Amino acid sequence: MLDTWTIKKTEANGNNRSLVTGSSDERTVVWVGDIPIGGVEAVVVAGPCSVESRDQVTRTAHAVKDLGAVILRGGAYKPRTSPYDFQGLGVEGLRLLREAGDSARMPIVTEVMSEDDVTVVCDYADMLQVGARNMQNFALLKKLARTRKPILLKRGPSATVTEWLSAAEYLLHGGNENVVLCERGIKTFDSSLRNTLDLAAVALVKEMTHLPVVVDPSHATGKRSIIGQCARAAIAIGADGVIVEVHPEPEKAWSDGAQSLTFENFEEMMNGLTAPFRGVVAQPALAY
Ligand code: PEP
Ligand code: MN
Repeated sequence: MLDTWTIKKTEANGNNRSLVTGSSDERTVVWVGDIPIGGVEAVVVAGPCSVESRDQVTRTAHAVKDLGAVILRGGAYKPRTSPYDFQGLGVEGLRLLREAGDSARMPIVTEVMSEDDVTVVCDYADMLQVGARNMQNFALLKKLARTRKPILLKRGPSATVTEWLSAAEYLLHGGNENVVLCERGIKTFDSSLRNTLDLAAVALVKEMTHLPVVVDPSHATGKRSIIGQCARAAIAIGADGVIVEVHPEPEKAWSDGAQSLTFENFEEMMNGLTAPFRGVVAQPALAY
């Protein structure tokens, strides 16, 4: 499957490498404001699922910054399964997120859902998220390719690795090399969790491409209690960072409360990310 894709690109480009997989020995570092993604250290991006109010987003920004997050996330345009669910504060949400990011001295990342909103989101945000549901919105990808803003490209819920990388190829081909891939869980036969976190795909795309890759264990699991371990596993497998949802009062969140970490949960996750791993037996077992 992957070979098929590479071969197709070969014909299109007239060489045997696609832009996404080309020169994977030289890794790309994407700068979001003054923060490098894909450098020596893994980064933590954190913030609420949705921007709800000045107080909510500003408190969250300061709390996560104090605990080690380097980029603030927050949704102003929300892709919701039901049209009756909260759709986001729109431009007011962008303003509040920007204000909170500036106050805590953090760059901000937020989703852009529509081609119509690209200009206004670019005015406020340091990095633009393409949500999972929009991964194959090719008109949006083409427009974003022309902005040159850093893009966080989430993997579609049912997208193969090939489709995910082809979406990234649209951005690079259109002139935007500032692409960070984000694994956020895929649909499988198993409904025990919101999605299935495909960590092997993270190792695979790290091997296949030169692009940084981050993991979103919040949407991948939908379950607050296991997000810390999944984040730890993501870094262990080679992810360049994690993006997680944090809320001052998750039980009152307007979206994704069940997967939102409290400030205390976030602190535990951060401690876990720097804790040593369990030892592995290195000596051959003694003969009985
Ligand atoms: C989000 O980041 O809040 C979000 C909606 O993510 P995804 O597109 O991965 O579902
Ligand atoms: Mn969310």
